Amino acid sequence: GSVLVTGANGYIAVWIVKTLLEQGYSVRGTVRSPPKGSHLKETFKEYGARLQVVVVEDMITEGAFDEAVKGVVGIIHTASPVHTHADDPDELIVPAVGGTLSVLRSALVHGTSVKRLVITSSCATVVQEDPNPRVFDEESFNDLAVKEVELKGREARPIDKYRASKTLAERAAWSFVEERERDIGWDLVVLNPPWVFGPVLQHVAANDPQNLNTSMLEWFNNVVKRKRDDEFLASIGTAWVDVRDLALAHVLALQKEAAGGNRFIISAGPYKWQDLVSAAHAIDPSLPPGNTSYEPSTAAHHARFDASKADQCFGFTRATYRSMEATTADILKQFKQN
Ligand code: NDP
Repeated sequence: GSVLVTGANGYIAVWIVKTLLEQGYSVRGTVRSPPKGSHLKETFKEYGARLQVVVVEDMITEGAFDEAVKGVVGIIHTASPVHTHADDPDELIVPAVGGTLSVLRSALVHGTSVKRLVITSSCATVVQEDPNPRVFDEESFNDLAVKEVELKGREARPIDKYRASKTLAERAAWSFVEERERDIGWDLVVLNPPWVFGPVLQHVAANDPQNLNTSMLEWFNNVVKRKRDDEFLASIGTAWVDVRDLALAHVLALQKEAAGGNRFIISAGPYKWQDLVSAAHAIDPSLPPGNTSYEPSTAAHHARFDASKADQCFGFTRATYRSMEATTADILKQFKQN
């Protein structure tokens, strides 16, 4: 069968495309302009016509995906802005919500062969600011960020603008499916990953790390460039997952019948930035050691995520997820080559 992947040139999406192709699927990937598709074509040239790249210039125009959804058995919607430099929160919210609804509407009307739609959401839609340490599972929805942004608008924290965009997009998807239940021939699965790290396959302009996607740029700046102080490294961090494990989860989300109608946290576990700095320093001692007084065993993880629902449905165990050491080694190896 053929699978549609939106935002196919993005960091996570390229790994999803790779995993799909390796498993024998044909892939139709959408990009915003022809040049954005050329690196993708080049990367997967051995697969020939099994990868088709189509241009959807503006995903929020009506019927944007009408042609793209025709004939595919599954859709993976990843396209959404990921950055923290929006002034007006609508810079994030409009494409996040509008893009999601656009995919859903096209799938409703023209996706007659579609069996399943998978949306890349985020732990940003799960976590909620809480004065007490807390373990979050799929029952939790981050409506607090939405309220913050409603209240403060442009003055809201950048992270809340992003979190609100993802929460509103995911909420919109669930409402759409609930309202149209009788008219749609497919079901919805949502994946909620925390920070995603790992090797990079997407095009990085002029090989300049500053053109990395947001999560890998943050990784590069904190682990290699040491742009943060010791206090930050030892105290800040949430949870993480390797991009390749997340890509596999997307493909399983298409395949597992029982996944339908569910959201799944996909997380390898908590981290502080110093854990990543230490892992990198252990592999390459020329990299900065960071905060040498940091003690990982006493680090407090305020927000944790329970990923056991995905374990049950996808047959994951903790051992399925790549370790911090393995992921770090693979990233460093890649950065060295470039
Ligand atoms: P990237 O920035 O690498 O990719 C984002 C993709 O979305 C690109 O294809 C981009 O296209 C497209 N996109 C962005 N804004 C728009 C827009 N306004 N209209 C159309 N397309 C747009 O990010 P990631 O791969 O990291 O993120 C992919 C998904 O995963 C997102 O939904 C994100 O929220 C989610 N996610 C990411 C995490 C992470 O740590 N990386 C963590 C949790 C969730 P273009 O290249 O043309 O800009």
